[in-house]
Amino acid sequence: MTPLADMLVRRIRATGPITLADYMADCLLHPDHGYYATRDPFGAAGDFTTAPEISQMFGELVGLCLAQSWLDRGAPSPFTLAEFGPGRGTLMADLLRATARVPGFHAAARLHLIEASPVLQARQKLALNGFPCTWLTSADDLPEQPLFAVANEFFDALPIRQFTRDPDGWRETVVGVTDGILTPGLSAPAPIAALSHRLSDTRPGDVVEICPSAGPVIAAIGGRIAGHGGVALIIDYGAWGSGGDTFQALQAHSFVDPFAAPGQADLTAHVDFAALAAASPTAHSYAEQGPFLSRLGISARSDRLAAGLEGKRREYHLAATRRLTAPAEMGTLFKVLSLHAVSTPPPPGMY
Ligand code: SAH
Repeated sequence: MTPLADMLVRRIRATGPITLADYMADCLLHPDHGYYATRDPFGAAGDFTTAPEISQMFGELVGLCLAQSWLDRGAPSPFTLAEFGPGRGTLMADLLRATARVPGFHAAARLHLIEASPVLQARQKLALNGFPCTWLTSADDLPEQPLFAVANEFFDALPIRQFTRDPDGWRETVVGVTDGILTPGLSAPAPIAALSHRLSDTRPGDVVEICPSAGPVIAAIGGRIAGHGGVALIIDYGAWGSGGDTFQALQAHSFVDPFAAPGQADLTAHVDFAALAAASPTAHSYAEQGPFLSRLGISARSDRLAAGLEGKRREYHLAATRRLTAPAEMGTLFKVLSLHAVSTPPPPGMY
């Protein structure tokens, strides 16, 4: 049993079953045993690979999209350049390199990284190569000024609550203990105010998920953009609305039982983009990742990079382009939600 499993079993025996959100929060961010709090999980030798780790083109195109949005909004100075959950800092490093020649962009940018893991903050500091940066653990602490922000695979890591529709309301997925082992179960049915709008489009047995901590983060981002201008790009796997059980655990690039080794596997759920959009006071646009990157010019950039490569490196690069954009790979499953002030156009690549 992992040290965290031992701790959770003792706690549940003492005070009763816990929600999936409480379970996820401890598994991911417990200061001593949490998954992100204690390791760098990315890359081939880790548990999963993300778009910025697949190719430099991802951070470059996101960077140019934000820089063009900044120019389109009159190049406000100073402005907050922010990333949520920056992982190894690869996306931000690629973004900064790609935007270095946009006149005034770096000089006006006040970089803020929102990162809960001390291990990953240290990793990000190395990647930034001296670029001045402030680390925050809460979006509420972002300065009151124009905001240009990106979040890639951040919202899927926020704890969810999961409910199964019942004729008499909703039964919540909770984590209990059976024979000394952590086991999921369902609570007694109860009405849930936050799900009353889902009574009309679900039937008994249907599963829906909500992410209680996403709303306040979106409200903080959207509040800055509505008040001072700016753009946010939120990129993740998920869909418009929540339906079905999407709670999952990844370890060494394979799906594993989320309750088997708490703190050792990455726990995530699909993002409900409709819920994010509803939590923002701004306008929004929504697109699939593949078409978004295509409209930003990934083919031309890919060809340009391919021209300088040979053999295995060229093959790897072309495979990376496909992986980011092809419908059967990340192109359709991953979506982009952009937030922008009501009176302004969406960022490039979005409609
Ligand atoms: N954006 C990166 C990493 C995605 S993994 C990439 O695309 O490679 C999720 C990231 O969010 C990690 O950096 C993790 O430590 C961070 N994170 C998870 N939950 C968080 C929270 N509640 N607050 C701040 N950061 C969090």
